[in-house]
Amino acid sequence: MGTYRSLWVEIGCRKCGVVGPFDIQFKTGSDYLETYKAGEIVDDSSLSPEKVFAGCADYYCRPCFEAWRADDLDAQRRVIADMAREGIVEVFTMGKRLSPQEIEACRPSLPSGAIGIGSWLHACDLEVLSDGVPVFPRLRTSDAVGEDFDRRMEDAMRRRGWPHGDECFRFDLEVFVSPD
Ligand SMILES: [Zn+2]
Repeated sequence: MGTYRSLWVEIGCRKCGVVGPFDIQFKTGSDYLETYKAGEIVDDSSLSPEKVFAGCADYYCRPCFEAWRADDLDAQRRVIADMAREGIVEVFTMGKRLSPQEIEACRPSLPSGAIGIGSWLHACDLEVLSDGVPVFPRLRTSDAVGEDFDRRMEDAMRRRGWPHGDECFRFDLEVFVSPD
């Protein structure tokens, strides 16, 4: 597994606007979880000035992230139930096909931080098929169904007031060392 470095900066949550410390993760190619604060003076050849590193961070503060996660899980259940109702997918658990109502009733308690439909499907031991082909994890033959799911999730999360839809990480940050 690749490691990374962290730069802690005070930025605003994209949902509630609260300003707090966010961990911007970036890679230089030789990283051992070094941690910096914005404005810190560094002496490290991997961090020479003029280099710019792509950084990623959470969009949301902790409480907003937890709210996003709960909404995301709820939206996943409803979207998959809708897709089952429309005959696009079939959902099975241990060989038994579930009705849309039964799909919506699958509400596991997930480990903290678990996101993505894989966590939900695994926790409830569900299989999602389209024309007999597993939809998750994504296979080439089910790309269209997966893209349909992504679009529905994006719409559902924006309707619920999440400014970045079904995405909770931002990849639009840059980290650099100024020469002075
Ligand atoms: Zn927030």
